Amino acid sequence: MTDPTALPAPAPTFDPHALPPLREVIARFGLDAKKSMGQNFLLDLNLTGRIARSAGSMTGITAIEVGPGPGGLTRALLATNAPRVIAIERDRRFIDALQDVVEASHGRLTIVEADALTVDPEQLAPAPRAIVANLPYNVATPLLLGWLARIEAYVSLTLMFQKEVADRLVAKPGSKAYGRLSVITQWRADARVLFNLPPRAFTPPPKVESTVVQLVPRANPEPAEWRILEKVTAAAFGQRRKMLRQSLKSLGDAEALLEQVGISPTSRAEEVDVAGFAALARAVQAREAANPPCP
Ligand code: SAM
Repeated sequence: MTDPTALPAPAPTFDPHALPPLREVIARFGLDAKKSMGQNFLLDLNLTGRIARSAGSMTGITAIEVGPGPGGLTRALLATNAPRVIAIERDRRFIDALQDVVEASHGRLTIVEADALTVDPEQLAPAPRAIVANLPYNVATPLLLGWLARIEAYVSLTLMFQKEVADRLVAKPGSKAYGRLSVITQWRADARVLFNLPPRAFTPPPKVESTVVQLVPRANPEPAEWRILEKVTAAAFGQRRKMLRQSLKSLGDAEALLEQVGISPTSRAEEVDVAGFAALARAVQAREAANPPCP
């Protein structure tokens, strides 16, 4: 019988440098970067190692990577203690190119050929699981929103975004970057910037700076319903320069709602913190429950 208190077996050691250099892999398989797939590769294994280590201890945790591409970050994840790495890639060309890494991983690496927007990572890997990825920037926000909706299913998300998006994720009330994405993100997760990377770190270099952000599920998020919080923040930030008594008119009697939750009707969306928006969402929900739409 297995001892339930036994620690998970340590992951076998993996040397990311033992495989052919990434530039060689790219040349051999003709992996020219496609802009339409958000392909900007990290070919410096010191850098991918830094990202993988910044995710924290992976002991006993399945690492899920979106978009392994030529495999720089995948190799770095295999060099951590993660017992398993599952990489979801949409571009078929990389599936062949990654076969050497699969073989060298001794069964720890699984590549899933799929569009990550249509995949539920919870179906691929048992808990505990963490996502670590250099995201394709063209779909980074919808991917993040999908994971945030079930953030409690992950130990953490360690993700590379374009800096402008990262700034929005961690923005505080009163700042220009503070908006819907900040509220939804910080409602569900503690988000912090780990480090920035200049365009030259990537091949080909993107036009923008990049930032690695870590998101960890919040232990006690304010109660609110996702759908209603989205509705309230959409109304509030859709007219962010207007006073809330004006911008929230579409929700019904805005003045009464605001008064009920103790927010000044003359304040603007960017002055309201996450707790304030959650309180507004609860008030809207209570009102909806009291006045259900006619059948
Ligand atoms: N991880 C590699 C690295 O750091 O060098 C590549 C990162 S590159 C920014 C984004 C990767 O995501 C590419 O390999 C691209 O083919 C893949 N990708 C793009 N859209 C995707 C999607 N919807 N689902 C899964 N992978 C996707």
